[in-house]
Amino acid sequence: MARPFLFGTNFKMNQTPAESAAFYRQLAASVEIPPHVYLFVIPPFTSLAAVREVAGPQPHQIWVGAQNVHWAPDGAYTGEISVGMLLALDVDLVLLGHAERRRYFHETDVELNRKVLAAVGAGLRVLLAMGETAEERGFGVSGETVLRQLRIGLHDVPPEHLEKIQIAYEPVWSIGAGGTPASPEDVEPIARLIRSGCQDLFGDPGSKIPILYGGSVDPSNAGTFTALPDIDGLFVGRAGWTVEGFVATYQAGYAGKSESQ
Ligand code: PEP
Repeated sequence: MARPFLFGTNFKMNQTPAESAAFYRQLAASVEIPPHVYLFVIPPFTSLAAVREVAGPQPHQIWVGAQNVHWAPDGAYTGEISVGMLLALDVDLVLLGHAERRRYFHETDVELNRKVLAAVGAGLRVLLAMGETAEERGFGVSGETVLRQLRIGLHDVPPEHLEKIQIAYEPVWSIGAGGTPASPEDVEPIARLIRSGCQDLFGDPGSKIPILYGGSVDPSNAGTFTALPDIDGLFVGRAGWTVEGFVATYQAGYAGKSESQ
């Protein structure tokens, strides 16, 4: 079976619970989701309960994600949130390893691996983000960087949990307001490397792990990335922060994938 198509946004440190709930409600009323397509929104922790109220019981039409999780089940970790706490809120997915977590909060690949194992072990889907910085790109080590993040981040994931893993390739230099948009030519070789890295790690089932692209994606370029054979969807920031922007970018990305097949 072909790999699914995924599209979602991360609100970062934006939105109140009421704003996130209104967003989810309006989005759910605005999109028809075909089979094998999964949409998701990742609001701040403080919005999760309010969004859950709107999303209703499982299965959620649009997955609800969290922006981080701790690896320990409980304990003296002030300010942290456990996998069990997220599951108690019916969260569908957790984002791990976003460039801002790595940069500002110094998250390491080894810590991320602990988080990945804790999440999938408890039945939570993971979106593991990875990507090289401008400096690493300048030194010509984009491929090595991403492969290291992949191999450590997904170390020892048991085969039966592989279907809970999705990857977001987000070159750090392309993310956010100061980012330089990447071209499909930049993304294609790294996406191919991630695909083959997954296959090296896990054999054939590894090649089924969805790979999303993220970094300055908008409706004008979304389809150019999803037309790439190893890109199975998009992970956006700014373009997804209005319902109109979310829908337009998703539709452009989905059209790019459909036309390329
Ligand atoms: C991001 O921060 O992960 C991201 C993709 O942001 P943007 O789409 O705004 O570049």
